[in-house]
Amino acid sequence: MIRRPWYRSKTSPASCREVGRVLQHYLDSEMDPEWAARVTEHLEACKDCGLEEETYREIKSSLARRQPSATDDAVARLREFGRSLTDD
Ligand SMILES: [Zn+2]
Repeated sequence: MIRRPWYRSKTSPASCREVGRVLQHYLDSEMDPEWAARVTEHLEACKDCGLEEETYREIKSSLARRQPSATDDAVARLREFGRSLTDD
C-alpha cells in the first residue's frame, strides 16, 4: 500500500481494492469523471494497480484483434489479483 502523496490530496484517494473493482469500467470510460480522476491518480502512484491496468489494456487490444488465446495468461493473472483483494 503506497501512501505517499495522498495526505495532500483534496479528494480521498481510491484504494487498491476500489481500483481493482472498477478498473474495467474505468478503461471502458463508464465512470463519472470525478471517480475516474481518483483512479488515474492511484494508477500513477501505485505500481501494482498500474500493472493491472496494463494487463486490462492488453486483454482489450487482444480481443479487438480477435486473438483471445493470447489473453489466457492475463485473465488468469487478473483472477488471481481479484482473489488477493478479497482475501485480506
Ligand atoms: Zn493500488
